[in-house]
Amino acid sequence: MSKKEDKEFTIEDLPGVGATTAEKLRDSGYDNLMSIATTSPGELVELTGVGENVAKRIIHVARTKLDMGFETGEDILKKREQIVKITTGCKVFDEMLGGGFETGSISECFGEFGSSKTQIAHALAVNVQLPREKGGADGMAVFIDGESTFRPERIKQFSEALGLDSLEVLKNIKIARAFNSDHQMLVAEKVEDLIKEGLPIKLIIVDSLTAHFRADFVGRGTLSERQQKLNKHMHVLMKLAAQYNICVYVTNQVMSRPDVFFGDPTAAIGGNIVGHNSQTRIYLRKGKKGSRVAKLIDSPHLPDSECVFMVTDKGIEDLKIK
Ligand code: ATP
Ligand code: MG
Repeated sequence: MSKKEDKEFTIEDLPGVGATTAEKLRDSGYDNLMSIATTSPGELVELTGVGENVAKRIIHVARTKLDMGFETGEDILKKREQIVKITTGCKVFDEMLGGGFETGSISECFGEFGSSKTQIAHALAVNVQLPREKGGADGMAVFIDGESTFRPERIKQFSEALGLDSLEVLKNIKIARAFNSDHQMLVAEKVEDLIKEGLPIKLIIVDSLTAHFRADFVGRGTLSERQQKLNKHMHVLMKLAAQYNICVYVTNQVMSRPDVFFGDPTAAIGGNIVGHNSQTRIYLRKGKKGSRVAKLIDSPHLPDSECVFMVTDKGIEDLKIK
Protein backbone atom coordinates (compact mmCIF):
# COMPACT_ATOMS: atom_id res chain seq x y z
CA MET A 1 0.00 0.00 0.00
CA SER A 2 1.28 3.43 -0.81
CA LYS A 3 0.07 6.60 0.78
CA LYS A 4 -2.21 4.73 3.14
CA GLU A 5 -4.65 6.73 5.16
CA ASP A 6 -5.06 6.59 8.88
CA LYS A 7 -8.13 4.40 9.24
CA GLU A 8 -9.45 6.11 12.38
CA PHE A 9 -9.05 9.67 11.22
CA THR A 10 -11.70 11.16 8.94
CA ILE A 11 -12.13 14.67 7.57
CA GLU A 12 -14.57 15.50 10.41
CA ASP A 13 -11.68 15.05 12.82
CA LEU A 14 -9.70 17.87 11.23
CA PRO A 15 -9.51 21.00 13.37
CA GLY A 16 -12.16 23.56 12.45
CA VAL A 17 -14.14 21.13 10.32
CA GLY A 18 -17.67 20.75 11.57
CA ALA A 19 -20.51 18.89 9.90
CA THR A 20 -21.31 21.73 7.50
CA THR A 21 -17.73 22.25 6.37
CA ALA A 22 -17.25 18.51 6.02
CA GLU A 23 -20.32 18.35 3.80
CA LYS A 24 -19.03 21.21 1.65
CA LEU A 25 -15.70 19.49 1.34
CA ARG A 26 -17.29 16.19 0.36
CA ASP A 27 -19.53 17.90 -2.19
CA SER A 28 -16.44 19.40 -3.79
CA GLY A 29 -14.73 16.04 -4.03
CA TYR A 30 -12.53 16.44 -0.95
CA ASP A 31 -13.67 13.30 0.76
CA ASN A 32 -10.37 11.99 2.07
CA LEU A 33 -7.22 13.20 3.77
CA MET A 34 -5.08 12.77 0.69
CA SER A 35 -7.16 15.15 -1.40
CA ILE A 36 -7.08 17.75 1.38
CA ALA A 37 -3.37 17.29 2.04
CA THR A 38 -2.59 18.01 -1.59
CA THR A 39 -4.83 21.04 -2.13
CA SER A 40 -4.11 24.73 -1.61
CA PRO A 41 -5.43 26.94 1.23
CA GLY A 42 -6.97 29.26 -1.39
CA GLU A 43 -9.08 26.46 -2.80
CA LEU A 44 -10.36 25.45 0.64
CA VAL A 45 -11.21 29.05 1.50
CA GLU A 46 -13.18 29.39 -1.70
CA LEU A 47 -15.04 26.12 -1.29
CA THR A 48 -15.92 26.21 2.38
CA GLY A 49 -15.74 29.83 3.48
CA VAL A 50 -13.32 29.07 6.31
CA GLY A 51 -10.62 31.65 7.04
CA GLU A 52 -7.21 31.30 5.45
CA ASN A 53 -5.45 30.40 8.68
CA VAL A 54 -8.00 27.71 9.42
CA ALA A 55 -7.54 26.38 5.88
CA LYS A 56 -3.76 26.24 6.34
CA ARG A 57 -4.18 24.38 9.62
CA ILE A 58 -6.62 21.88 8.09
CA ILE A 59 -4.14 21.11 5.32
CA HIS A 60 -1.25 20.87 7.75
CA VAL A 61 -3.05 18.40 10.00
CA ALA A 62 -4.26 16.35 7.02
CA ARG A 63 -0.63 16.08 5.94
CA THR A 64 0.64 14.97 9.34
CA LYS A 65 -2.14 12.39 9.64
CA LEU A 66 -1.33 10.76 6.34
CA ASP A 67 0.79 7.69 6.50
CA MET A 68 2.69 8.15 3.27
CA GLY A 69 4.09 4.63 3.44
CA PHE A 70 7.25 3.32 1.87
CA GLU A 71 7.32 0.46 -0.55
CA THR A 72 10.18 -1.86 -1.35
CA GLY A 73 11.53 -2.24 -4.85
CA GLU A 74 10.00 -5.70 -4.81
CA ASP A 75 6.53 -4.28 -4.05
CA ILE A 76 6.85 -2.00 -7.06
CA LEU A 77 8.05 -4.84 -9.25
CA LYS A 78 5.02 -6.92 -8.22
CA LYS A 79 2.77 -4.00 -9.03
CA ARG A 80 4.37 -3.59 -12.43
CA GLU A 81 3.75 -7.28 -13.09
CA GLN A 82 0.02 -6.60 -12.83
CA ILE A 83 0.22 -4.15 -15.71
CA VAL A 84 -1.58 -5.20 -18.86
CA LYS A 85 -0.54 -3.75 -22.19
CA ILE A 86 -3.30 -2.96 -24.63
CA THR A 87 -2.34 -3.35 -28.26
CA THR A 88 -2.77 -0.52 -30.72
CA GLY A 89 -3.10 -3.11 -33.48
CA CYS A 90 0.08 -1.78 -35.04
CA LYS A 91 3.30 -3.72 -34.52
CA VAL A 92 5.78 -0.85 -34.59
CA PHE A 93 3.58 1.31 -32.36
CA ASP A 94 3.27 -1.52 -29.79
CA GLU A 95 7.03 -2.09 -29.92
CA MET A 96 7.68 1.56 -29.27
CA LEU A 97 5.46 1.34 -26.18
CA GLY A 98 7.05 -1.87 -24.95
CA GLY A 99 3.92 -3.86 -25.79
CA GLY A 100 1.06 -1.38 -25.86
CA PHE A 101 -0.78 1.21 -23.77
CA GLU A 102 -0.32 0.30 -20.10
CA THR A 103 -2.94 -0.17 -17.41
CA GLY A 104 -2.23 1.45 -14.06
CA SER A 105 -1.29 4.88 -15.36
CA ILE A 106 -2.20 7.77 -17.62
CA SER A 107 -1.04 7.89 -21.23
CA GLU A 108 -1.36 11.11 -23.16
CA CYS A 109 -1.37 11.60 -26.92
CA PHE A 110 -0.85 15.19 -27.98
CA GLY A 111 -0.69 16.65 -31.43
CA GLU A 112 -2.42 18.90 -33.91
CA PHE A 113 -5.89 18.35 -35.42
CA GLY A 114 -6.13 15.23 -37.54
CA SER A 115 -3.00 13.70 -36.03
CA SER A 116 -5.09 10.60 -35.07
CA LYS A 117 -5.60 11.06 -31.33
CA THR A 118 -9.29 10.16 -31.63
CA GLN A 119 -8.68 7.26 -34.02
CA ILE A 120 -6.28 5.68 -31.54
CA ALA A 121 -8.93 6.11 -28.83
CA HIS A 122 -11.42 4.14 -30.94
CA ALA A 123 -8.88 1.40 -31.65
CA LEU A 124 -8.11 1.03 -27.94
CA ALA A 125 -11.82 0.94 -27.04
CA VAL A 126 -12.12 -2.14 -29.25
CA ASN A 127 -8.78 -3.78 -28.49
CA VAL A 128 -9.16 -3.57 -24.69
CA GLN A 129 -11.98 -6.09 -25.09
CA LEU A 130 -9.71 -8.72 -26.62
CA PRO A 131 -8.42 -11.55 -24.45
CA ARG A 132 -4.96 -11.08 -22.89
CA GLU A 133 -3.22 -13.38 -25.33
CA LYS A 134 -4.45 -11.23 -28.19
CA GLY A 135 -3.26 -7.97 -26.74
CA GLY A 136 -6.39 -6.99 -24.85
CA ALA A 137 -7.29 -6.74 -21.18
CA ASP A 138 -10.59 -8.67 -21.23
CA GLY A 139 -12.25 -5.46 -20.19
CA MET A 140 -14.71 -2.70 -20.95
CA ALA A 141 -14.05 0.88 -22.01
CA VAL A 142 -15.40 4.20 -20.80
CA PHE A 143 -15.30 7.02 -23.35
CA ILE A 144 -15.58 10.51 -21.87
CA ASP A 145 -16.45 12.48 -24.94
CA GLY A 146 -15.90 16.20 -24.69
CA GLU A 147 -15.91 16.92 -28.39
CA SER A 148 -18.67 14.64 -29.74
CA THR A 149 -16.12 12.61 -31.60
CA PHE A 150 -17.21 9.11 -30.61
CA ARG A 151 -18.29 7.27 -33.77
CA PRO A 152 -19.99 3.86 -33.43
CA GLU A 153 -19.41 3.38 -37.16
CA ARG A 154 -15.65 3.35 -36.59
CA ILE A 155 -16.04 0.88 -33.71
CA LYS A 156 -18.03 -1.32 -36.06
CA GLN A 157 -15.32 -1.19 -38.72
CA PHE A 158 -12.50 -1.89 -36.27
CA SER A 159 -14.41 -4.74 -34.61
CA GLU A 160 -15.25 -6.42 -37.89
CA ALA A 161 -11.62 -6.22 -38.97
CA LEU A 162 -10.83 -8.31 -35.89
CA GLY A 163 -13.70 -10.73 -36.50
CA LEU A 164 -15.62 -9.50 -33.45
CA ASP A 165 -19.36 -9.04 -33.10
CA SER A 166 -19.59 -5.26 -33.35
CA LEU A 167 -22.82 -5.00 -31.39
CA GLU A 168 -21.23 -6.82 -28.48
CA VAL A 169 -18.20 -4.56 -28.71
CA LEU A 170 -20.41 -1.46 -28.70
CA LYS A 171 -22.25 -2.74 -25.62
CA ASN A 172 -18.94 -2.86 -23.79
CA ILE A 173 -18.19 0.81 -24.35
CA LYS A 174 -19.83 3.27 -21.97
CA ILE A 175 -19.97 6.73 -23.48
CA ALA A 176 -20.53 9.88 -21.47
CA ARG A 177 -20.70 13.28 -23.09
CA ALA A 178 -19.03 16.07 -21.16
CA PHE A 179 -20.48 19.52 -21.82
CA ASN A 180 -17.99 21.68 -19.95
CA SER A 181 -14.96 21.29 -17.73
CA ASP A 182 -16.90 20.92 -14.47
CA HIS A 183 -19.16 18.35 -16.05
CA GLN A 184 -16.12 16.48 -17.37
CA MET A 185 -14.60 16.39 -13.88
CA LEU A 186 -17.84 15.08 -12.45
CA VAL A 187 -18.17 12.40 -15.13
CA ALA A 188 -14.63 11.19 -14.39
CA GLU A 189 -15.47 10.88 -10.71
CA LYS A 190 -18.61 8.89 -11.54
CA VAL A 191 -16.60 6.22 -13.32
CA GLU A 192 -15.82 4.76 -9.92
CA ASP A 193 -19.53 3.99 -9.47
CA LEU A 194 -19.45 1.83 -12.60
CA ILE A 195 -16.43 -0.04 -11.27
CA LYS A 196 -18.09 -0.55 -7.91
CA GLU A 197 -21.15 -1.95 -9.71
CA GLY A 198 -18.78 -4.63 -10.91
CA LEU A 199 -18.16 -3.60 -14.51
CA PRO A 200 -14.70 -4.74 -15.62
CA ILE A 201 -13.52 -1.33 -16.80
CA LYS A 202 -9.95 -1.54 -18.07
CA LEU A 203 -9.80 1.60 -20.21
CA ILE A 204 -10.91 5.18 -19.63
CA ILE A 205 -10.64 7.55 -22.58
CA VAL A 206 -10.84 11.30 -22.14
CA ASP A 207 -11.09 12.92 -25.58
CA SER A 208 -10.23 15.74 -25.25
CA LEU A 209 -8.71 16.18 -21.82
CA THR A 210 -7.97 19.86 -22.27
CA ALA A 211 -10.42 21.40 -24.78
CA HIS A 212 -13.14 22.33 -22.27
CA PHE A 213 -10.62 23.68 -19.80
CA ARG A 214 -9.17 25.88 -22.51
CA ALA A 215 -12.57 27.17 -23.53
CA ASP A 216 -13.89 27.68 -20.00
CA PHE A 217 -10.88 29.55 -18.68
CA VAL A 218 -9.95 32.20 -21.17
CA GLY A 219 -7.77 35.12 -20.22
CA ARG A 220 -4.74 35.23 -18.00
CA GLY A 221 -6.52 35.95 -14.74
CA THR A 222 -8.11 32.52 -14.74
CA LEU A 223 -5.04 30.55 -15.76
CA SER A 224 -4.08 29.38 -12.29
CA GLU A 225 -7.66 28.36 -11.55
CA ARG A 226 -7.66 26.37 -14.78
CA GLN A 227 -4.41 24.64 -13.90
CA GLN A 228 -5.69 23.86 -10.42
CA LYS A 229 -8.85 22.29 -11.78
CA LEU A 230 -7.01 20.39 -14.46
CA ASN A 231 -4.65 19.13 -11.81
CA LYS A 232 -7.56 17.92 -9.71
CA HIS A 233 -9.10 16.24 -12.74
CA MET A 234 -5.83 14.47 -13.52
CA HIS A 235 -5.56 13.32 -9.91
CA VAL A 236 -8.98 11.71 -10.09
CA LEU A 237 -7.93 9.91 -13.26
CA MET A 238 -4.58 8.91 -11.83
CA LYS A 239 -6.23 7.46 -8.76
CA LEU A 240 -8.65 5.41 -10.87
CA ALA A 241 -5.74 4.16 -12.99
CA ALA A 242 -3.65 3.12 -10.01
CA GLN A 243 -6.36 1.83 -7.71
CA TYR A 244 -8.17 -0.30 -10.26
CA ASN A 245 -5.31 -1.03 -12.68
CA ILE A 246 -6.95 0.81 -15.55
CA CYS A 247 -5.40 2.29 -18.67
CA VAL A 248 -6.30 5.98 -18.85
CA TYR A 249 -5.87 7.42 -22.33
CA VAL A 250 -6.16 11.20 -22.67
CA THR A 251 -5.83 13.45 -25.69
CA ASN A 252 -4.52 16.97 -25.84
CA GLN A 253 -4.66 19.11 -28.95
CA VAL A 254 -1.70 21.34 -29.56
CA MET A 255 -1.04 23.64 -32.48
CA SER A 256 1.82 22.72 -34.70
CA ARG A 257 4.12 25.70 -34.71
CA PRO A 258 5.87 26.18 -38.03
CA ASP A 259 7.29 29.41 -36.65
CA VAL A 260 9.47 27.51 -34.20
CA PHE A 261 12.70 26.61 -35.96
CA PHE A 262 15.01 26.15 -33.02
CA GLY A 263 14.71 23.90 -30.04
CA ASP A 264 12.29 21.09 -29.50
CA PRO A 265 8.83 21.97 -30.85
CA THR A 266 7.30 19.32 -28.61
CA ALA A 267 8.71 20.72 -25.38
CA ALA A 268 6.49 22.54 -22.94
CA ILE A 269 3.32 22.24 -24.97
CA GLY A 270 0.31 20.76 -23.32
CA GLY A 271 1.19 22.54 -20.11
CA ASN A 272 3.23 21.32 -17.18
CA ILE A 273 0.25 20.05 -15.28
CA VAL A 274 -0.69 17.57 -17.96
CA GLY A 275 2.91 16.58 -18.69
CA HIS A 276 3.77 15.87 -15.08
CA ASN A 277 0.74 13.73 -14.50
CA SER A 278 0.99 11.55 -17.59
CA GLN A 279 3.39 8.67 -17.25
CA THR A 280 3.49 8.01 -20.99
CA ARG A 281 3.46 10.91 -23.42
CA ILE A 282 3.25 10.51 -27.15
CA TYR A 283 3.58 13.30 -29.66
CA LEU A 284 1.62 12.65 -32.86
CA ARG A 285 2.07 14.39 -36.16
CA LYS A 286 1.18 13.95 -39.79
CA GLY A 287 3.81 12.17 -41.87
CA LYS A 288 4.39 11.58 -45.55
CA LYS A 289 1.70 10.19 -47.84
CA GLY A 290 -1.08 10.19 -45.29
CA SER A 291 0.93 8.40 -42.65
CA ARG A 292 1.16 9.46 -39.01
CA VAL A 293 4.25 9.65 -36.84
CA ALA A 294 4.23 8.86 -33.12
CA LYS A 295 7.09 9.91 -30.91
CA LEU A 296 7.52 8.67 -27.36
CA ILE A 297 8.63 11.45 -25.04
CA ASP A 298 10.58 11.05 -21.77
CA SER A 299 9.36 7.62 -20.79
CA PRO A 300 10.76 6.51 -17.42
CA HIS A 301 11.57 3.03 -18.70
CA LEU A 302 11.62 3.08 -22.51
CA PRO A 303 14.00 4.70 -24.96
CA ASP A 304 12.79 7.80 -26.77
CA SER A 305 11.81 6.62 -30.22
CA GLU A 306 9.53 7.21 -33.17
CA CYS A 307 7.36 5.08 -35.38
CA VAL A 308 5.28 5.58 -38.49
CA PHE A 309 1.78 4.15 -38.86
CA MET A 310 -1.42 4.44 -40.90
CA VAL A 311 -5.02 5.01 -39.93
CA THR A 312 -7.14 2.79 -42.16
CA ASP A 313 -10.65 1.35 -42.34
CA LYS A 314 -9.40 -1.52 -40.19
CA GLY A 315 -7.77 0.46 -37.42
CA ILE A 316 -4.24 1.56 -36.58
CA GLU A 317 -1.93 -0.35 -38.87
CA ASP A 318 1.67 -0.76 -39.87
CA LEU A 319 2.84 1.01 -42.96
CA LYS A 320 2.57 -1.30 -45.95
CA ILE A 321 5.49 -1.00 -48.29
CA LYS A 322 4.20 -1.27 -51.80
P1 ATP B 1 -8.53 16.66 -33.42
O1 ATP B 1 -7.47 17.39 -32.67
O2 ATP B 1 -9.18 17.52 -34.46
O3 ATP B 1 -9.49 15.98 -32.54
P2 ATP B 1 -7.37 14.06 -33.92
O4 ATP B 1 -5.93 14.01 -33.60
O5 ATP B 1 -8.31 13.47 -32.94
O6 ATP B 1 -7.76 15.54 -34.29
P3 ATP B 1 -8.44 12.08 -35.66
O7 ATP B 1 -9.83 12.50 -35.76
O8 ATP B 1 -8.09 10.95 -34.78
O9 ATP B 1 -7.54 13.35 -35.30
O10 ATP B 1 -7.81 11.74 -37.05
C1 ATP B 1 -8.46 12.06 -38.19
C2 ATP B 1 -7.75 11.33 -39.32
O11 ATP B 1 -8.03 9.95 -39.28
C3 ATP B 1 -8.21 11.84 -40.65
O12 ATP B 1 -7.41 12.91 -41.03
C4 ATP B 1 -8.05 10.64 -41.50
O13 ATP B 1 -6.75 10.67 -42.06
C5 ATP B 1 -8.09 9.46 -40.57
N1 ATP B 1 -9.32 8.68 -40.78
C6 ATP B 1 -10.52 8.91 -40.24
N2 ATP B 1 -11.42 8.01 -40.67
C7 ATP B 1 -10.76 7.21 -41.52
C8 ATP B 1 -11.12 6.08 -42.31
N3 ATP B 1 -12.37 5.61 -42.31
N4 ATP B 1 -10.18 5.51 -43.05
C9 ATP B 1 -8.94 5.97 -43.05
N5 ATP B 1 -8.53 7.03 -42.33
C10 ATP B 1 -9.42 7.64 -41.58
MG1 MG C 1 -9.97 14.19 -31.97
